[in-house]
Amino acid sequence: MPQRLAKHRFHYPFRKGDRYPRWLIGFGFRLMETVASRKVPLAYRELSLEQAIKESDMIAGLGGAVSGVGVFEEYMYAWPERICVDTALDAEKRGATIHTYASVIDVQRRDSMWEITLEEQAPEAQGHVCARTHAVVNAAGSWVDRVPGSRAGSETKRVIGKKGVNVMVRLPDAWRGQGLEAFSSKGEPYYVFPWGEYHFSSDQPRP
Ligand SMILES: Cc1cc2nc3c(=O)[nH]c(=O)nc-3n(C[C@H](O)[C@H](O)[C@H](O)COP(=O)(O)OP(=O)(O)OC[C@H]3O[C@@H](n4cnc5c(N)ncnc54)[C@H](O)[C@@H]3O)c2cc1C
Repeated sequence: MPQRLAKHRFHYPFRKGDRYPRWLIGFGFRLMETVASRKVPLAYRELSLEQAIKESDMIAGLGGAVSGVGVFEEYMYAWPERICVDTALDAEKRGATIHTYASVIDVQRRDSMWEITLEEQAPEAQGHVCARTHAVVNAAGSWVDRVPGSRAGSETKRVIGKKGVNVMVRLPDAWRGQGLEAFSSKGEPYYVFPWGEYHFSSDQPRP
């Protein structure tokens, strides 16, 4: 849905001792460009530090020994909630029955069918709804393991917790709309993402 995306200029600084060599990063981007939609190009290119500084105040403000910079287009959904609504409406048009404000409270295999029990949460729609179906997709995100019955016979958790930190900061105006992806000194993924007149940074520690 390219029409729902906001584009940002992103940087990947190369430093001595990086976890991944420069050629591998370049290869990874090329691979993604090959399989990704032509309508949302990553437009990856590698610049010398001098060239990157000329093009970006953000890079000019970076400390440490940077040997070069990968530059690419990063995309952020504008109004992702609307995408969910549009997808649900489209599914309904194609024959799906939509239940909003409803929790799946049980999933049972009966004979060759699955039986799903929903509990309506909306005050005007109290009661249970059952549906028999051939296949079930559990798309409950972080709660995927908590949907009762959907993991019949499996003791392995699909989702495990980890802690990360998101910090919102105000950076120089000339950096607005630009971002950064890198690895921290601990070798963990780290990014700085533009958010209006602010930036938020996030570290993603390994579990
Ligand atoms: C702080 C944070 C920052 C993130 N930043 C980024 C980012 O910058 N870029 C990026 O790409 N991703 C980011 N992510 C990850 C991204 O948000 C998730 O990967 C994505 O939302 C997962 O989508 P999903 O549809 O699988 O699950 P979700 O969006 O979690 O949707 C699951 C839905 O299932 C519903 N549900 C749960 N249990 C039941 C039940 N029993 N019955 C009925 N419904 C149920 C929930 O209410 C929810 O609406 C971030 C996540 C977090 C938490």
